[in-house]
Amino acid sequence: MVRFVNSGTEATMSALRLARAYTGRSKIVKFEGGYHGHSDALLVAAGSGALAHGVPDSAGVTASFAQDTLLGVFNDPASVEAHFDAFPEDIACVIVEPVAGNMGVVPPHDRFLQGLRDLTEKHNSLLIFDEVITGFRVEYGGAQQRYGINADITCLGKIIGGGMPVGAYGSSAEIMATVAPLGAMYQAGTLSGNPVAMAAGIATLEQLQEPGVYNALGAKAASLAAGLQEVFAEAEIPLRINRVSSMMTLFFNAGEVNSWETVLASDREGFGRFFHRMLEEGVYLPPSPFEAMFVSTAHSDAI
Ligand code: PMP
Repeated sequence: MVRFVNSGTEATMSALRLARAYTGRSKIVKFEGGYHGHSDALLVAAGSGALAHGVPDSAGVTASFAQDTLLGVFNDPASVEAHFDAFPEDIACVIVEPVAGNMGVVPPHDRFLQGLRDLTEKHNSLLIFDEVITGFRVEYGGAQQRYGINADITCLGKIIGGGMPVGAYGSSAEIMATVAPLGAMYQAGTLSGNPVAMAAGIATLEQLQEPGVYNALGAKAASLAAGLQEVFAEAEIPLRINRVSSMMTLFFNAGEVNSWETVLASDREGFGRFFHRMLEEGVYLPPSPFEAMFVSTAHSDAI
């Protein structure tokens, strides 16, 4: 069952409420460098120690909102296991971008998503995949199709509105029965499921169902990445391109970028100079070394 809302923020905020209502537990785990929109419980950064509860990451978020948010390390299931060891009965859910997109693109290690699935199952906690970026992008079935892992709750946004404001969260009928009017968890909104966003979303998804769309997108992105890598090699500037299908990030980094720590070790000023020179040339890249660029079906091979 799926509930439509108006933004990715609303989708993840509601998904947390659902996980808490369904499990009767209060704590959540998110990951350093992960972004799930701007609801209070998710605008939280790591505390001073690995097992400390989170601290507000924005003015206006009070400590009481942050105290039930625990921070894990992306690509490190042991960091989550440590939280479950400390709070075996208190963690309602683990929320993750299955392919990190908001610290730049960082693909999941082979064992990471499966590790989260195993841990949440073992502790009767829910696994939330925030597929606001990856949904209908890395495959028609999102990261869950690509990596063969099923989450308990899925959050969607962006693409499913075809450019109009939208979000959605969905789960099994059993879990969604917690949401009013069937259950006791309240969530509703005046513009949720509005006809304009729904029509734009349906039209977009119909186009994405055309045969070959995802292969073509991946091939276009691969050729862009190869060209960029070649130019940077010629200029002898170390560059690491992380790419999953049509989403990618250029890290000014000589080594592998597979964690928040290695993302931070990239030359961010170098990226800034590159960004502004590209803008002068008429190419508008994402204006931050922590963002992903996306190849679209509308892009062509033309230079
Ligand atoms: N989750 C992820 C993974 C996102 O990238 C974003 C937005 N960039 C959000 C949630 C929040 O979505 P919105 O901006 O529509 O509120």
